[in-house]
Amino acid sequence: MSETIFSRILSGDIPADIIYEDAEVVAFRDVNPQAPVHVLVIPRKPIPTLNDAQPEDTELLGRLFLAAAKVAAQEGIAESGYRTVVNCNAGAGQTVFHLHLHVLGGRPLQWPPG
Ligand code: C5P
Repeated sequence: MSETIFSRILSGDIPADIIYEDAEVVAFRDVNPQAPVHVLVIPRKPIPTLNDAQPEDTELLGRLFLAAAKVAAQEGIAESGYRTVVNCNAGAGQTVFHLHLHVLGGRPLQWPPG
């Protein structure tokens, strides 16, 4: 699989403001935040898009969501509310082809998203 900016963050080649990490998952602040809190939660395993996730990734996908909830609590937005988003492929706005969960909060969020 080809290198992405996120694999370079994982390897330490590129700096990131990491706010949570464990054996499977890393969370860091988005460099172009779309809300007062905008964190990306990524698996260490390089899965390009959600379409590439396999049955053996089931637990890992759950870990991404549990890490998102942990980050939300850590950032103080768990009770006020937050949104998790996975953009899958270019038509949905995916620009980095390493699966990631956006965690957005800290302001009222509109529905539906654009
Ligand atoms: O879902 P999408 O692929 O568009 O999200 C990629 C996100 O990665 C963007 O929100 C972008 O701001 C973020 N990014 C980052 N650090 C980088 C490169 C991109 O936080 N070095």
